Amino acid sequence: MADSADRPIDFTRLPHSSPVPANERERAIADPGFGKVFTDHMITIEWDEGRGWHDATLGPREPLSLDPACAVLHYAQEIFEGLKAYKLADGAMALFRPEQNARRFNHSAARLAMPNLPEETFVDSIRQLVLADRDWFPTVEGGSLYIRPFMIATEAFLGVRPARQYKFLVILSAAGSYFKSGAPAVSIWVSQDYTRAAPGGTGAAKCGGNYAASLVPHANAVARGMDQVCFLDAAEHRWVEELGGMNLFFVFDDGTLLTPPLSGTILAGITRDSLITLARQEGLTVVEERYAIDEWRADAASGRLTETFACGTAAVVTAVGKVASHEGEFIVGSGGPGQTTQRLRDKLVSIQRGIAEDKHGWVMRLD
Ligand SMILES: *Cc1c(COP(=O)(O)O)cnc(C)c1O
Repeated sequence: MADSADRPIDFTRLPHSSPVPANERERAIADPGFGKVFTDHMITIEWDEGRGWHDATLGPREPLSLDPACAVLHYAQEIFEGLKAYKLADGAMALFRPEQNARRFNHSAARLAMPNLPEETFVDSIRQLVLADRDWFPTVEGGSLYIRPFMIATEAFLGVRPARQYKFLVILSAAGSYFKSGAPAVSIWVSQDYTRAAPGGTGAAKCGGNYAASLVPHANAVARGMDQVCFLDAAEHRWVEELGGMNLFFVFDDGTLLTPPLSGTILAGITRDSLITLARQEGLTVVEERYAIDEWRADAASGRLTETFACGTAAVVTAVGKVASHEGEFIVGSGGPGQTTQRLRDKLVSIQRGIAEDKHGWVMRLD
């Protein structure tokens, strides 16, 4: 595929004729919730076979005009990323390991037969947008700007093959806390009826299709009074994989942490990777090994398992209290956030917000 490779791309800045008035914006960012308060601007970059990436703009956030035959609407050729802009203790805006999101985006693109986007262009588009809309940074405690880069197939063609035209976009959303109640621990339904990803499928790609397939199992879990779904492996329905959008960790009474291995059916979370590093730095043993639902239940009952937590950019680190399946339910540890869960969460959040020293070069200052 043609690739406009290393040449840095110039963004055309389109003026905004009607940004949201300051008083309305202030009201919206005082208590933004998650994923519903959007900022004034967006990034768009076009791709086609002849020109590669071109027409990069930073302009007003507005509805897209798409041909009804465009491929994304029919065959779901779409990928996305999710990361946050934080405000450091000194007031500067910063990103957390954005080059990892850029790399993962291209990994997803390759699986969905979409063009590669140079990592510098990915990060630069985010930098420009965040700085343009920095006044949207939430005033609520623990707030951030949630960044959603994504790519869609825009070619109008109903034949089944990779499209020949794409659009890359970045939008921003003011974010408070991800879970409505700011819940201290979530409850989880282990789905034995539905799977998220099969070997050879798209489980390791961040694509909208994976989420579409998770909506029914998620709705079933909610109907049972549970907060989230946990998926098991597709072959044996036994090995714990992850939640619909978060990776899982298990903490044992000897201080060992276990997280399922990246076998191709699990999304390689950047939060997961960061927590493995932080835990090892503390001297904890972290193993990437398979863990079965029956082991989870038995170890919670015996007390060998003391904590379980889920992690991802949106909710950071969230304790798992109650676990239920067709076989009944069990409680992990105290049913609330354990010490290791809280300590690792605090460590990560302190680095992201520039309170603790950034020993790994994870924080990218934007100004
Ligand atoms: C995005 C995502 C995660 C978390 O990844 P982070 O990089 O930590 O935000 C975990 N699982 C799935 C399925 C995801 O889509």
